[in-house]
Amino acid sequence: MINTIIKTLILDKSIRLYFTDNTKMLQEIMELSTIKDKTCCFALAKAVSILSLLSAALKDNQRISLVITLTNKNHKIYADTDAGGNVRGYVSQALLKASRQQNSNHSLQDLIGTKASIRMMKGLEMSQFTGVTDMPYQNMDDDFAYYFKQSEQTDTMIQTNIELDRNSCLLKSYGIYAQALPGAEEGALDFVREQFEAENLASLLLNMNDAEIEKALNQRFYRSKVLEHKPIQFSCSCSKEMFYGFLYSLSAEELQKAVETSTSIDTTCHICGRSYVFHPSEIQTILQTR
Ligand SMILES: [Zn+2]
Repeated sequence: MINTIIKTLILDKSIRLYFTDNTKMLQEIMELSTIKDKTCCFALAKAVSILSLLSAALKDNQRISLVITLTNKNHKIYADTDAGGNVRGYVSQALLKASRQQNSNHSLQDLIGTKASIRMMKGLEMSQFTGVTDMPYQNMDDDFAYYFKQSEQTDTMIQTNIELDRNSCLLKSYGIYAQALPGAEEGALDFVREQFEAENLASLLLNMNDAEIEKALNQRFYRSKVLEHKPIQFSCSCSKEMFYGFLYSLSAEELQKAVETSTSIDTTCHICGRSYVFHPSEIQTILQTR
């Protein structure tokens, strides 16, 4: 399912402002996640929504990989994205298991806790930049803004809005990302934040065409311009090769038995649900190269 990010420049090219209704993309990801707990759904949806917004600032072969480690160190949220707008997100098996056991009443603040961290790897395979910060705000949006302030020294505003129904199904998701560029005036981003908060501007803009968006932005922020609509979509980069490791982890007896009984071994990617079948002849090869 494809959604788009609307990229704009406002206040005479001093602030980049992106916004998106990424409901369709997130619905697909949340459904595949099989998480039951509402707060956990909320946390994953927010993390993925933020990463989808960040994808619009990537160029060429750049990609971002995100790991959020919650206060319970086994509970992690993963998301990654690339310049092509491919986005995926999932949680660690321990968090998934915990989220299936109960639909608890804890808040996002409780789930994140006081010792959580954000770790982001950005760049190309050969030249990666990794930043790590803690999450003092315990609300995701401001924690990511804090990350950019700490690790990249940039003033950033992030607002994600996630609506879930009683069964934790995603009803609606939209988000805004604004970042001060070199030359931005002191306090410019605070001014943008105030405007967005005063009238729920994101919802208004998302229902407009480009000409209307430019008009609305210029009424509030001078010299504003819509640059482009960039597609974002759920995409898992898994491949059959990645699952050879799993087969190598099985015992020789298990593999031998599969070969002797001409039984295939099925593996499934827990992120996208795609299954990869290893036929007896392939299992034979694995046995020989172990
Ligand atoms: Zn996959």
